[in-house]
Amino acid sequence: MTRDPRYDILFEPVKIGPVTARNRFYQVPHCNGMGYHYQNEMAAMRGMKAEGGWAVVFTEQCDIHHSGDIQPATESHLWDDADLPYLAQMTEAVHRHGSLAGIELVHNGYLASNLYSREIPIGLTHRPGSMSNHPVQARAMDKADIRNYRRWHRNAALRAKRAGFDIVCVYSGHDLNVPMHFLSRRHNERTDEYGGSLENRLRLYRELIEETKDAVGDSCGVVVRFAVDELLGSDGISCEGEGRDAVEMLAELPDLWDVNISDWANDSATSRFKDEGYQEPFIDFVKRVTTKPVVGVGRYTSPDTMVSAIRRGVLDMIGAARPSIADPFLPKKIEEGRIDDIRECIGCNICVSGNKTQVPMRCTQNPTMGEEWRRRWHPEKIAAKTSEAKALIVGAGPAGLEAARALGQRGYAVTIAEAADEPGGRVTLESRLPGLATWARVRDYRLSQIAGMANVELFLASTMTAAEVIEFGADTVAIATGASWRRDGVGREHRRPIAGSDGTNVLTPDDIMAGAELAGPVVVLDDDHYYMGSVIAERLCEQGHDVVLVTPGLDVANWTHYTLEQELIERRLVELGVEILARHDFKAIAADHVDIVNALTGQVFQRACGSVVMVTARLPNDALYHELVALAEAGTEVPRLSRIGDCYGPGTIAAAVYAGHRYAREYDVEIDPDKVPFERELHVLTGVL
Ligand code: ADP
Ligand code: SF4
Repeated sequence: MTRDPRYDILFEPVKIGPVTARNRFYQVPHCNGMGYHYQNEMAAMRGMKAEGGWAVVFTEQCDIHHSGDIQPATESHLWDDADLPYLAQMTEAVHRHGSLAGIELVHNGYLASNLYSREIPIGLTHRPGSMSNHPVQARAMDKADIRNYRRWHRNAALRAKRAGFDIVCVYSGHDLNVPMHFLSRRHNERTDEYGGSLENRLRLYRELIEETKDAVGDSCGVVVRFAVDELLGSDGISCEGEGRDAVEMLAELPDLWDVNISDWANDSATSRFKDEGYQEPFIDFVKRVTTKPVVGVGRYTSPDTMVSAIRRGVLDMIGAARPSIADPFLPKKIEEGRIDDIRECIGCNICVSGNKTQVPMRCTQNPTMGEEWRRRWHPEKIAAKTSEAKALIVGAGPAGLEAARALGQRGYAVTIAEAADEPGGRVTLESRLPGLATWARVRDYRLSQIAGMANVELFLASTMTAAEVIEFGADTVAIATGASWRRDGVGREHRRPIAGSDGTNVLTPDDIMAGAELAGPVVVLDDDHYYMGSVIAERLCEQGHDVVLVTPGLDVANWTHYTLEQELIERRLVELGVEILARHDFKAIAADHVDIVNALTGQVFQRACGSVVMVTARLPNDALYHELVALAEAGTEVPRLSRIGDCYGPGTIAAAVYAGHRYAREYDVEIDPDKVPFERELHVLTGVL
């Protein structure tokens, strides 16, 4: 296939100072939970993006000095020459595919707790950090500190060049680093030449850019990543105020402007809260005040939207973190005219949660993310079939669909039997809940891939019994029948069913998604702590019910701190009028009320309600699997049997997709359960001291 000419513009080269990007696809710096800790994984993951056509591939934030130590977060380091080898491995991986390697130099200032380095943090003024509540306080940078900091930055730029980087980024964004703190009126109370007027507050940033250009600008592009708006109105940097003024003052100094909104939760907003291109209103002034190329992000996955952003004069290059994670081959697919093959990011921020929990990131759409090195999984390539085995998959949820897609790609003959009238399982149902429509892409990508495979058949409205599975005569059967929400309240807090949970007024998310009618007011128990409790509460509000959300957690949807959504979710629920009772729990359920207990004081009170919804835990729908196991044990010939996805262990959609993918990869491989199934990053020992 060939490229549609209307996308030609995306493949024009762009000059970035002394270097040239071969097209307009720019993978902006993004954290990934790999960094210095999982060095081979980081390099392999970046190399994959280059192979997939991203002309510019950046690191995550790279800490320039041990006084800016934010461990246990696993970012890149450039503290001294000892960090050069793994960064050089990354640049080599990127160069191998003709792309430019970029590095984002960072010092987090007062936000660095220095738990590992044990240095006293430095910042604008004397104040405690806020990235966490560690009992650590930064001291105000004096002139000597500022001189040191500038030298560290310059040294890091020189080292970056030695590591093979083509682009060095001077970063002022996300309210996370020294230059942005200096720039911000909210932070900067200095009375010297680095405080007061905007020119003074911008002085340090200007110095850093000039000094970086002086150090490496002869051969490296020196670019900025700059937050033009904090969504704080006149209290913050704004695109109508000092954000714009600062861009105007530095307009021609850097070789490229990578602009975004701050903080990280605003920049990486999920699809529950923001649509594709959501940053445009804030950044679209930038091209009017500089002649340098402009990059912006906004979860761009549609080539038409990308072309439009360029033609309308908003962007010169399409910046992406998440779209490049969900599909490292997005540019190549556009280039080769394979638009339907793009695996579009769903905007769920599971990737962010990997970084937040300090493990290599995972992706809901791309099950190979983070597995490029340790399992040698390629997002586009998979081994061809090794036999003529015929596979039956029962259940067309994310696990079943991905297993079928990947087995089909391998060339196996696959039949999927799905009980419902429509495919997609939980993804189809959940995508109808408020704000989750984009999640249907998990289903749609796989259906469109399967549609092009003559060796994969999907049958709907086909509930399989054990006898039918055997009768079907496949060589292998994967049971991917999903899981169901518990009605009895058992979960993290309750080990035994909650008294009264067998009443007819007790419902589950499955009931709500199936369209059950219920009497209000409604009390939701959320002991799941991810998104489900909050979206169910939203749905009930839409239906006109008064809703109380009770959670034993510290706050509502507590786990969504890891997806950057917690505040947004809580705000939305408060705006909808949901009463939130955090650190509370159900004691007992009656026909017309719930007994609620304060988890701290033990005080119990009643709340009148017509219904309750239990969002606590799920149980596998594994009856079919166990029936087949029992038949096999009784001597009936049963095909090779597996359980995958939620039917094996209820989890996230990302986990179900991964399970389906893994099943297909390991379909014809003997797995030794005693062996670690992936390569590990191990330290080199120095010998006993
Ligand atoms: P997962 O997340 O593991 O993919 P889902 O719950 O999303 O699980 O999907 C499971 C799918 O299996 C659902 O669409 C459900 O209708 C289907 N299913 C359950 N039992 C059967 C059965 N006996 N025969 C065919 N399909 C089934
Ligand atoms: Fe997109 Fe979700 Fe994948 Fe992140 S995890 S890249 S948000 S699909």
